[in-house]
Amino acid sequence: MIWTYWWSYIIIVPGLLLALFAQSLVTSTYKKYSRVSARSGWTAEHLSEKLLADNGCAVRIARIKGNLTDNYNPSTKVLSLSQSTFGSDGIAALGVAAHEVGHAVQDAEEYLPLRLRSVIVPVVNFGSGLAIPLLLVGILFEIFIENPMVGNLFITLAIVAYSLATVFSLITLPVEFNASRRAMNMLRASGALEEEELKGARKVLTAAALTYVASLLVSMLYLLRFIIIASQFKRD
Ligand SMILES: [Zn+2]
Repeated sequence: MIWTYWWSYIIIVPGLLLALFAQSLVTSTYKKYSRVSARSGWTAEHLSEKLLADNGCAVRIARIKGNLTDNYNPSTKVLSLSQSTFGSDGIAALGVAAHEVGHAVQDAEEYLPLRLRSVIVPVVNFGSGLAIPLLLVGILFEIFIENPMVGNLFITLAIVAYSLATVFSLITLPVEFNASRRAMNMLRASGALEEEELKGARKVLTAAALTYVASLLVSMLYLLRFIIIASQFKRD
């Protein structure tokens, strides 16, 4: 049993490698295209203001610390641009800012996957916390009380609770892909970037999307590992 616990960590390795690769790709791509100034001369902040106004979004723009910490918060209606993005006129910064505006527009349009993701956050947090206690109760029934029917039920419930985090990662994908698609359309339509410059922005956003794919893979592999370990306690 203890061996399974340790060797099964190997399952996670491909996911972690992809996550590392995606992270370094984002960093290098962002760096490369932040050195290239957009010919329009717009900064990320001005672009965000204009795109938000164009789409009728009542959203406040804030400046936050950090690198690539840019985000949009649907509950506070605040679009936060990081230090490296805010005042930058680089192609990368404009791409990231437009992506965050994409989330604000999703919010304004009540885009279903975004709504769904907001709704399931508390369920995911609650469920993830329950997975280990449920598994322990299951083991208690299997081994000490010797009631496999109840034990198997609790172990199955533990796996379902653990899988909620994977469901969350899965719903994140359409939300992110769609925000980037909206970003590319807005960058083109607003004239912020020219056709040649759009390619750079697309590379930055594609690298960012890959980090979400990697997160999903890591989450799926952790789930697989949990299923392998939990199933060992099941009795017929
Ligand atoms: Zn995003």
